[in-house]
Amino acid sequence: MSQQGYAAAPPYSQAQPGMGGYQGGFGASPTQPFYGHYGGPPQAVHAQPAGLVKSPGSSAAGMAPPPLSSQCNANVQQNGAHTQRYPPPGVSAPYSQPPISNHNNMASPSPPEAQQLTNQMSSMNLGNYGPMKVSAPAATPFHSPASVMSPQQVTPGMQSTLLPPQMSPPQSPAASMSMGDPPMGRQPMGGPPMGGQAMGGQPMGGPPMAGQQMGGPPMGGQAMGGQPMGGPPMAGQQMGGPPVGGQQLGSPPIAGMSRPFPGPLPPGPGGFQQLGPGPTGPPAYPQQAGQFGGAMSGLQPGMPGAFPGAPGGLAGPPQKKLDPDSIPSIIQVIEDDKVRFGGQLFNTNTRGQVPPLVTTDFTAQDQGNASPRFMRCTTYSLPCTADLAKQCQVPLASIIKPFANLPKNETPLYVVNHGESGPIRCNRCKAYMCPYMQFIDGGRRYQCGFCNCVNEVPVFYFQHLDHMGRRVDFYERPELSLGSYEFVATLEYCKNNKPPNSPAFIFMIDVSYNNIKSGLVRLICDELKTLLEKLPRQEGAESSAVKVGFVTYNKVLHFYNVKSALAQPQMLVVSDTAEMFVPLLDGFLVDYQESKAVICNLLDQIPDMFADTNESETVFAPVVQAGVEAFKAAECSGKLFIFHSSMPTAEAPGKLKNRDDKKLVGTDKEKTLFLPHKGVYEQLSKDCVAQGCCVDLFLFPSQYLDLATMAHVPSHTGGSVFKYNNFQIQTDGDHFLRDLRKDLQKSIGFDAIMRVRTSTGFRATDFFGAVHMNNTTDIEMAAVDCDKAVTVEFKHDDTLGEDTGALIQCALLYTTIGGQRRLRVHNLSLNCSSQLSELYKSCETDALINFFAKSAYRAILTQPVKNVREILVNQTAHMLACYRKNCASPSAVSQLILPDSMKVLPVYMNSLMKTSPLVGSTELPTDERAHQRQSLMTMGVEETQLLLYPRLLPLHNIDPGSEAVPAPVRCSEERLLDSGMFLLENGHSMFLWLGQASPPDLTQNLFNVPSLAHLQDNTCVLPELDNLLSKKIHSIISELLEKRPNSMKLQIVRQRDKPEMVFRQFLVEDKGLHGGASYVDFLCYVHREIRQLLT
Ligand SMILES: [Zn+2]
Repeated sequence: MSQQGYAAAPPYSQAQPGMGGYQGGFGASPTQPFYGHYGGPPQAVHAQPAGLVKSPGSSAAGMAPPPLSSQCNANVQQNGAHTQRYPPPGVSAPYSQPPISNHNNMASPSPPEAQQLTNQMSSMNLGNYGPMKVSAPAATPFHSPASVMSPQQVTPGMQSTLLPPQMSPPQSPAASMSMGDPPMGRQPMGGPPMGGQAMGGQPMGGPPMAGQQMGGPPMGGQAMGGQPMGGPPMAGQQMGGPPVGGQQLGSPPIAGMSRPFPGPLPPGPGGFQQLGPGPTGPPAYPQQAGQFGGAMSGLQPGMPGAFPGAPGGLAGPPQKKLDPDSIPSIIQVIEDDKVRFGGQLFNTNTRGQVPPLVTTDFTAQDQGNASPRFMRCTTYSLPCTADLAKQCQVPLASIIKPFANLPKNETPLYVVNHGESGPIRCNRCKAYMCPYMQFIDGGRRYQCGFCNCVNEVPVFYFQHLDHMGRRVDFYERPELSLGSYEFVATLEYCKNNKPPNSPAFIFMIDVSYNNIKSGLVRLICDELKTLLEKLPRQEGAESSAVKVGFVTYNKVLHFYNVKSALAQPQMLVVSDTAEMFVPLLDGFLVDYQESKAVICNLLDQIPDMFADTNESETVFAPVVQAGVEAFKAAECSGKLFIFHSSMPTAEAPGKLKNRDDKKLVGTDKEKTLFLPHKGVYEQLSKDCVAQGCCVDLFLFPSQYLDLATMAHVPSHTGGSVFKYNNFQIQTDGDHFLRDLRKDLQKSIGFDAIMRVRTSTGFRATDFFGAVHMNNTTDIEMAAVDCDKAVTVEFKHDDTLGEDTGALIQCALLYTTIGGQRRLRVHNLSLNCSSQLSELYKSCETDALINFFAKSAYRAILTQPVKNVREILVNQTAHMLACYRKNCASPSAVSQLILPDSMKVLPVYMNSLMKTSPLVGSTELPTDERAHQRQSLMTMGVEETQLLLYPRLLPLHNIDPGSEAVPAPVRCSEERLLDSGMFLLENGHSMFLWLGQASPPDLTQNLFNVPSLAHLQDNTCVLPELDNLLSKKIHSIISELLEKRPNSMKLQIVRQRDKPEMVFRQFLVEDKGLHGGASYVDFLCYVHREIRQLLT
């Protein structure tokens, strides 16, 4: 900070303007010191620069952080600046509320030990949710909830609601409970939980509603206002079952509950629709729009019963269902965002602006900050102090996908060449030249936006400043005007100061008995003949520079010499796997085009050579080692494509034995199931990273193979693990080949090191991804492709200034597919605020859940899964309680109020806790759990969003002639129809669900059979038939497959068939099959936790 002096320099002030769109981001910093963080004055200063802004879009607002006082304004919503561009949606209203003395309030938020929920029946008040304005919109899509519900739910039986008969819970209630979700674990949940769940449903159904709402009303009164209550209709709903007695039992406290709501209203189902949104509501609580207002009433009823007290509740007669639309809906949030941003241009010129959701189609225009495709953050407004951060417990993190694919209509990154001396960087902190560097002193010096150091401008780089203090060549230099660009790296940035060789791909095929017998080896060899023609190329290059090599193996390794001069390929066998070496250099890694004839010859021969094998044992670590040695010998980086079938049990380094033990599930030792076997794999990973050897593993297991250990190398080298259980060519062949094609052709960088620099006051402290860390700052990746993301957590080490904001620069040094060394730089500027309301307003739930998922999946390596779930729940409650306490307008404690930006966080969080690694069920295969854990660690925000909230598309009403894809519906059994057909996908699994009453013409058109009964069990084939419907469905499916990073195997399930169980796991709003609460129950649980924290 000592450099602040520079700020004073006259040039400076002008300079800021220079920054153009970024004023806020850059120039400001120097000056601030003078003004102090909060003073109003600083802004004034910035404001001037605003005038300079290059693009009209960026207004002064963008530059200077809005005065505190104004922050709460609805208008200022995200970053004041872009208001014009994106008028604040009505929803934003919630924020408008003046933050209640944020600073002080927070003071005592210390989280009470929420865990003891046990007794808290009292909290049952859940019932009271204020009027949910938000919900209102949500409701729209589902006008007739009633119609959507499945008959089962309506059934009187308690269970019917949640557990349709056919679905009977696999485990004993007790078991599932405890495992289920944290809440369950707790006593309250404990026994009752099951009941609760079941109850949950019921409550919805009938009376409980009433009760809750009842509760609500009281509350409501305050917050909601009378909306719910007010309107007779509302009342009616709630009224419905005032007494609901049984259910509510649990919660006596609910004073509200007890109150009978006079509600004349017709309990009728229809009633629900009117919920909160009602006209009345809004007026009353304009600000709360975002919050969960009263609409909840419906839910609540269910809740009480669900939890502790529940048992009694069960008894209740079938009640009407609560209106599921009254609780925040992800579908609605996605839809609202599409309406707001869909198809529009998103300019990145404003510091701290919250981007459109990952589910929205938009066009990003880089105007000084990295596109959200490259970087997303949990919040775009950091709290100024560590204390504030601690108070709210909102994680501060960025999810960086440095090689993200850009749509065709967005400009690819420019490549900048600063010549022999290499990219210009700050002398002190080594940050690269970027829009946050402030040129001063007539252009002769520049001040670093990260560390404030003042640097000399190299002579060759000198340029005059214009009257606004901006370099005259501002627009000609991507590194001055853009958020993302690349530098040509000089020899200094290369291993041994030598330019890198182009990368190589080695295909390593397990030719043991299983793979030969299944036909897999032949399939791979045949595919490679065409796939190798499509090796990735450097942009602009005529052909691919990638070298290729081939190895087959079982207990021994076979290397192939495929030198172009040979008439026939030659095989060299290495049977001593203890000291792996590559028996040939010349002729092993070759140019495909040159050696095409020999290679094709080899690929033709391989399946036949091993056709009679009876060798079933394999080695694995030596195979990886061989790849590393080959790259070492060729002095190149690259990727191994390993096609492997079974646990490596042959005598060799890395030999594994079965250590799967379901008895560990639910114990403190459960973590060992996720931990790799200690041994050679750790060293192997390091060797791979050092050589730039990425490992992609294609597994074809028929039983446990210790994936946790086998995935260790891919997980640390930027690799991927694909798994095809009980592989059969007919049903899995295409699925596997789609993965292989995508994997081989995707854009990728090798031998990478990433460094995340930040401006003073905070820094990157933790990293999640398929990376290797040798020290605390360098993120090493043998390779990084377009689908891999690294999640970076930040912590304060000082106070952040509101004027300067917070800057992040991610620099990735890597080797291109063509063998060039480059530096890819992504810059992002965030706002800083001493108002927590700003932070909450700027949160991105999809990014938050990505962070939570990765941190939880890492945490299970060191602590019991149950603890991890509890931590997730507690943190969720804490974040929401902090908002409630400090940012929301006063209202009854019993009312659940959620920040608009986080209103669907509970759904995601609950879904996360039901994922296989966290759910802790002995019914889930250990390898599946380990695989999901491993895969998620590299996911970007899009992937985690989809994984945790699958798309459920109704297909029965589509217009085969139209281009449109049906709008998704909520992931709940209630949305299914007996006569319906739905497609569900989450990026990894895909199902076509057929209702038992599917009309004959539908089955005829899709399967060419007269009825569902004629479908074969476990069919995976959707024939391509010559009719519009069949074509339409196929086109929807292929579009999805095209869009997702991974292929998905289509599974066709009929309602009430056994395989339907698998499908139901993906209905994440419902109670989990292997444990875990329904969304409604979870929300009530969280609400109770929040209330505890507030009292
Ligand atoms: Zn610096």
